[in-house]
Amino acid sequence: MSTHSISVDERLRNYMLDVSLREHPELRALRDETAKHEMARMQVSPEQGQLMQMLIRMLGATNCIEVGTFTGYSALAVALALPDDGKLVACDISEEYTKIGIPFWERAGVAGKIDLRIAPATETLDAMIAVGETGSYDFAFIDADKPGYPDYFDRCLTLMRIGGVIAVDNIFMGGGVADPDADSDNVVAMRNFNALIKDDNRVELSLIPIGDGLTLARKV
Ligand code: CA
Repeated sequence: MSTHSISVDERLRNYMLDVSLREHPELRALRDETAKHEMARMQVSPEQGQLMQMLIRMLGATNCIEVGTFTGYSALAVALALPDDGKLVACDISEEYTKIGIPFWERAGVAGKIDLRIAPATETLDAMIAVGETGSYDFAFIDADKPGYPDYFDRCLTLMRIGGVIAVDNIFMGGGVADPDADSDNVVAMRNFNALIKDDNRVELSLIPIGDGLTLARKV
């Protein structure tokens, strides 16, 4: 039993949430608001948000990056875990989705920590590198278009300090990565990304089977 990760069915997941989830009321409210949206499956699970909050506090993080903000749940989770002088550069291309989260950020009192940049993330990250921010970030979360992951990962790694952690979402693609019949562009992109970082000796890795699979890559 202890040689495998147990598979978490609905009943066990509900138990897990019952005994461990501590969700800020504005996070809960934003999750409920996002659930009405047709793209709601793009939102991170609350237990994953809580894991990222703990990572941020364990890292003593002040400077964070997010690639793919969607309606702002993960950005709110990160901002709530940051100290008063912390900041999150949140990259997204959609004003329509991100503006859903802004009132929740404001009500939670953390909007001032979130620097939302509406542009292709590679442009935003390149601009950060160009102004000398290399090696000055503690934590990054990548949760955006899957074919873009290698580009986002490389740039985030440049921006991380030694010991900084990049968390990469949707590693499992709903199980598709291990399904020999699955060959969508996103599944293929994720398999390629996973193969790429497996042998990337600039980081140490751990793949956490939470949500849709979250790889933690720590810069060495
Ligand atoms: Ca995701």
